[in-house]
Amino acid sequence: MTQVREDLRNIAIIAHVDHGKTTLVDQLLHYSGTFRENEQVAERAMDSNDIEKERGITILAKNTAINYKDTHINILDTPGHADFGGEVERIMKMVDGVLLVVDAFEGCMPQTRFVLKKALEQKLRPVVVLNKIDRPNARPSEVVDEVLDLFIELGADDDQLEFPVVYASALNGTSSYEPDAQEETMQPIFDTILEHIPAPIDNQNDPLQFQVTLLDYNDYLGRIGIGRVFRGTIQVGQQVALMKTDGTVKNFRVSKLFGFIGLKRVEIEEAKAGDIIAVAGMEDINVGETVCPIENQEALPTLRIDEPTLQ
Ligand code: GDP
Repeated sequence: MTQVREDLRNIAIIAHVDHGKTTLVDQLLHYSGTFRENEQVAERAMDSNDIEKERGITILAKNTAINYKDTHINILDTPGHADFGGEVERIMKMVDGVLLVVDAFEGCMPQTRFVLKKALEQKLRPVVVLNKIDRPNARPSEVVDEVLDLFIELGADDDQLEFPVVYASALNGTSSYEPDAQEETMQPIFDTILEHIPAPIDNQNDPLQFQVTLLDYNDYLGRIGIGRVFRGTIQVGQQVALMKTDGTVKNFRVSKLFGFIGLKRVEIEEAKAGDIIAVAGMEDINVGETVCPIENQEALPTLRIDEPTLQ
């Protein structure tokens, strides 16, 4: 039997703009107690970038991680805008399922379709959150039908069509399995994630493969590659090979590793198969490149890049 990491889930959160992703993630963070009492969310979870606010779209993918019932849940924000198709695809390759947030009044909108299509193409299983159920004109059962029609139209397979639905008001911090029985808890959302999103495969005894999916930059650490450990383990101080997309290979020493907790990055000594982490130590690390053992070089398939990456 395949071993899985029951203590971990990796999901992407997808939605049309303004359907409530940011508010929902804030609530999940608060409900889980990932923030200590005296620690306020200084900025909204995923909407902190000024350009984003100006343009009303989410440009930078951001990671949030929440601990719930002994499980670490990585939640990756996903741009809804079609200009970021490459980034959306890359994020979908890092996760094992998606949380599709749909406004219970507005229903499916163009970006709902765009991001759902990408998720279905990657064979991911969506959990549907029908948000804004508190709106006086919310029409939950109609919208669930619309969502189902969209799944069918986009070619969802039988497993994907069996999507679970949770009804929520991210604004009020309520959710439930039925539209008219809201409770002041986010538990149904968490429990549905744990039940329906597959846990990552635990192949930590295989040779390391880590793929850079997103880039970040820090004045002290330089370039930082964010991505998923697809197999094996990676440690601080380890000498590893970076397989460049042009076919060349550069060796480097892992200077620092970071995991995610809440909205913060935390230093860790080791990460293993399934983990989503940030790796520092290689100046010219780029999206799509694979980090692997020097003695066992095997690149992961390249990724689509169609937008300017961080220089
Ligand atoms: P995002 O663009 O998907 O991140 O959406 P936001 O979380 O920024 O929410 C967009 C707007 O919808 C904000 O004004 C929120 O206060 C509002 N909103 C979010 N969730 C709810 C909800 O459950 N009910 C109502 N009535 N409004 C909500």
